[in-house]
Amino acid sequence: MKTSKLKLESLSTEQWEKLCKCCARCCYEKIDFEGRIFYTRIPCDQLDLETHLCRIYADRDRVRNDCQRLSPEIVAAGILPADCPYAELVEDYQGPSLGE
Ligand code: SF4
Ligand code: SF4
Repeated sequence: MKTSKLKLESLSTEQWEKLCKCCARCCYEKIDFEGRIFYTRIPCDQLDLETHLCRIYADRDRVRNDCQRLSPEIVAAGILPADCPYAELVEDYQGPSLGE
């Protein structure tokens, strides 16, 4: 997969955070089936379903060790929905199945 890593890596922390449109879809449990990622309808227990915000955002990777902070490498790995603004900066992005 070719990536626009330069675009992602050149963003400041503020620009990086602003890219997120807080749809919260990446905060739903995922299943890896034979190398393909599938989204489930099961939200993370730290997700506020009304606001779509994480209740422990600042400490998320410390409190939940299965929650990883996004990085250019994680974006390029293909776990985000294809219309996520981070994924849209990756060329030829192959998004997971959203199970819909
Ligand atoms: S899918 Fe993308 S835009 Fe939506 S919450 Fe996750 S990182 Fe933000
Ligand atoms: S800990 Fe927060 S950011 Fe991480 S998956 Fe759960 S709700 Fe989302």
